[in-house]
Amino acid sequence: MSEQKLRIAIAGNPNAGKTSLFNALTGAHHKVGNYPGVTVEKLEGVISRNGRQYHLIDLPGIYGLTAYSIDEVVARDFILDEKPDLIVDVLDSTNLERNLYLCLQFQELGVPVIGALNMTDEAEAKGIRINEKTLSASLGIPLVKTVGSKSKGMDELLDCVDALNDSGRDAARGAAHTVTYGMEIESKLEILQTMIRADAAFIKKYPERWLAVKLLEKDSDAYKRLKEHERAQEIGAFAKEASLWLDKHYGKDAEIVVSEQRYGYIRGAVQESLQIIKAPDFSLTEAIDRVIMNRFLALPLFVAVLWLLFQLTFAVGQYPMDWLEGFFTFLSDALNNVMPDTLFRSLLVDGVIGGVGGVLSFVPLIVILFCLLSILEDVGYMARAAFASDKLLHAFGLHGQSVFPMMLGFGCSVPAIMAARTLKSQRDRILTALITPLMSCGAKLPVHVLLAAAFFPENAANMVILLYGCGVVLSLLSAFVLRKTALRGEPTPFVMELPPYRAPTVRGVLWHVWEKTSRYIKKAGTIILAASILVWLITTFPRYEPSPEEMQAFAATYLENNPGADEEAVAAYAEVSGEQLAVEHSYAGRIGHFIAPVFKPMGFDWKLATASVIGIVAKEVIVSTLGILYRVGAEESEENEGLRAAITGDPHMTPLVAFVFMLFTLIAPPCLAALATIKAELGWKWLGFEYAFLLLLGGVLSVIIYQIGLLLV
Ligand code: GDP
Ligand code: MG
Repeated sequence: MSEQKLRIAIAGNPNAGKTSLFNALTGAHHKVGNYPGVTVEKLEGVISRNGRQYHLIDLPGIYGLTAYSIDEVVARDFILDEKPDLIVDVLDSTNLERNLYLCLQFQELGVPVIGALNMTDEAEAKGIRINEKTLSASLGIPLVKTVGSKSKGMDELLDCVDALNDSGRDAARGAAHTVTYGMEIESKLEILQTMIRADAAFIKKYPERWLAVKLLEKDSDAYKRLKEHERAQEIGAFAKEASLWLDKHYGKDAEIVVSEQRYGYIRGAVQESLQIIKAPDFSLTEAIDRVIMNRFLALPLFVAVLWLLFQLTFAVGQYPMDWLEGFFTFLSDALNNVMPDTLFRSLLVDGVIGGVGGVLSFVPLIVILFCLLSILEDVGYMARAAFASDKLLHAFGLHGQSVFPMMLGFGCSVPAIMAARTLKSQRDRILTALITPLMSCGAKLPVHVLLAAAFFPENAANMVILLYGCGVVLSLLSAFVLRKTALRGEPTPFVMELPPYRAPTVRGVLWHVWEKTSRYIKKAGTIILAASILVWLITTFPRYEPSPEEMQAFAATYLENNPGADEEAVAAYAEVSGEQLAVEHSYAGRIGHFIAPVFKPMGFDWKLATASVIGIVAKEVIVSTLGILYRVGAEESEENEGLRAAITGDPHMTPLVAFVFMLFTLIAPPCLAALATIKAELGWKWLGFEYAFLLLLGGVLSVIIYQIGLLLV
């Protein structure tokens, strides 16, 4: 028996501390995966203790088992279809009544439940004393006090799991008390349960009482599952009639009556076992909220927080960025000195280090941004920001809750699109996911920084900020338009709690940051590495040696323009020109020339056209592509200075063209990784829609701005 592995699902309301508890239990022994079919994250870990094995699964946070959001669907389906041996329901002790609502539904499901009374430290501080023995007796389930963030109570929790397992899980099921819903409902339930019990195979899968209640609650998923029953039609018809009868009888919806009964039951159970020693005479949270959530101050404060966030990110990020850039420059220099001048060296230095190194240099910025965002989230500010911006966002058909995905979008679209999952309605979720790629992400930043510094040296920083602003405004306007067309309908009303302010824990923040950054680094190691090598290949082959006549012609042109120039300068000019000629003859050059006419109305020449097309694979390689197209010496390309000079020296490049190029980079469809995430979250249809939408928006806007610009200057 000791060999057996217990499958334990960790479930509970959002923010109850599930992930903290999971981490405290598993430590480093876990892996991150996905639930089949959807990209909702799945944390799993296996631990052993006293010769027993426990397989733990961290479920997404939910409030009930009637599924509204993907998270809820995932959690519900996991419990119903995968049938974990046991559920550890993580309960926020400071908000017991609400948390027990879910617990009750687990009990009805007939899976053995253990309640982890988490956040006991906070409850104590608030003067809330919970007598877990009485509460446990009235609910009929074992309870253990824990503090997930400080790993307290973990052994006790596992002891409790063992005890429950040893005494038999069936016994545990039997011991759990269930709600009685009052005579009227119970009489209907009794008939329904008898009918359901007729199919022995069916009730092995779905407990009859749970299904009966769900049917009375008019839960569409329950009706779907009922189809597997041999007498599905008859039961369905009876259940529908019964719900209608109850609606009339009570003068309100049957599902409301059911939930009222549950709350009533909980209130009774809690009253006996919960004692509030001292009502907090002064709540810090309320005091802070009075300022932060002030009707007039909330929104300006949020904008100020955003501004500070970026200032801090860039100010702090500058140092590690410089170090990393220095390191990669050193690396390319070293390779250039050590290795003979071969194609392989060029591949390493120009392709791999140039591409991947350029991306990794921006990792510090992303880490800092995600770090600050995680702190804001853990402290409880993000929920306030959602409230503060809700009114404004509503005007554009968005949702206060869209704020967090949008802000993550400043870092990387991949976690941002995934964060849209938490929105309740399908339409809000789609809309938010579709507009987040318009936020200027970390990969677009190098392009903006390079061109802003080159063409608007006086106002470089303002220019970059302007582009961020363009992204936000365009995303809002797009939301407005989509809401009126493809995604018609009202945003769902705002239902969100304001959690109390909490000090963030180092572990929690690091965890969040690692989660999001590791994806970015993985991307650098895979897609971007591949893209960099591809760019190198198509700019290097077919190889082209400029003829002596061509070289002489370059030298002659240079001498004509710079009479009396010394020999060295002439030779250098001829060499760079020769290299550019070689690039023009490469596949990239041919492709660029071929597609250039399409990009002509927005002022792009073949180089910018090539960079734009490659940018759709990964925005990160735009700068290094430009570096290769302009063939600046590999030693310099890392520092951008050589590239900046080469670009400003190009007669074709004007500030107008540079601005249009930045704008197009901002709007054009995001990189492959982001597109793959959209496909995973929303499916092919929406991916196609998004692609066409962004391409059209970017193209049309760029043409308009370029043409107007031409008239003005
Ligand atoms: P989840 O949404 O249920 O996965 O919740 P998390 O594990 O992400 O925790 C939400 C927040 O509560 C984090 O800031 C945690 O550090 C904090 N937290 C978790 N457990 C406890 C606890 O027992 N006491 C206190 N004071 N904070 C906790
Ligand atoms: Mg979690």
